[in-house]
Amino acid sequence: MKKLIAGNWKMNGSWAETRNLTENILKAIEAESGLADKCDFAIFPPYLYIGVAKEVLTEADSPLVYGAQDCALNGNGAYTGDVSAAMLRDFGCEYVILGHSERRQYHGETDDVVKKKAAMAHAEGLKTIICIGETESERAAGLEKRVVGTQLSGSMPESATIMNTVIAYEPVWAIGTGKTATPADVKDMHGFIREKLQERIEIAKNMRILYGGSMKPGNAAELLATPNVDGGLIGGASLDAGQFLAIAKAA
Ligand code: PEP
Repeated sequence: MKKLIAGNWKMNGSWAETRNLTENILKAIEAESGLADKCDFAIFPPYLYIGVAKEVLTEADSPLVYGAQDCALNGNGAYTGDVSAAMLRDFGCEYVILGHSERRQYHGETDDVVKKKAAMAHAEGLKTIICIGETESERAAGLEKRVVGTQLSGSMPESATIMNTVIAYEPVWAIGTGKTATPADVKDMHGFIREKLQERIEIAKNMRILYGGSMKPGNAAELLATPNVDGGLIGGASLDAGQFLAIAKAA
């Protein structure tokens, strides 16, 4: 399976910085022969700057695609401040990240909300990256598998297929903290997620499962070589074209 290397830029950057970063990543992928055959690449700028990425990524079969970090629960209508899945698709987005722990934590998003958003995104032809992961206290209490299992079954809609859905396991305590789950923990949890996916036998074997949480060039090779790790969802290190590409090369 080709690895997916995805950069979640969160609420960072400016118009000019987004243009530079998108151009630099694209150039670096194109300069590294064979890399695009081994990895798929996606970037997730803030909503307002998706248009900048769109302007840069004009090739019909660009090795770098773009998406959004969230979408609305509802279709177009009277929902002030929201951005619908239909609008994202219309704007050329291929993916949308849903259920990131920062959305769950700061915007109170529940599994049910994530599931409804994902169903809406699938209906509009978007691919979803559905994020799940336990907090530090849940892990300390030995509840990590129960939490992750519940999030997985609660957040993934019936419409999920191997073509339109990617799962990202992101232990909350590893996001932006510099703490990374050990390869043994990642192997264990990704194996558990793969097993849990057996409940939907048609998707179990080939659904991509990404790891996210302080992935950097220095730890990427080991994490990406771990069984059932089919790519990375990268926050901080994706804001630097050199680091983002180094992670891909490590894959
Ligand atoms: C993320 O927010 O999805 C993430 C993995 O962030 P970081 O790589 O900075 O830990």
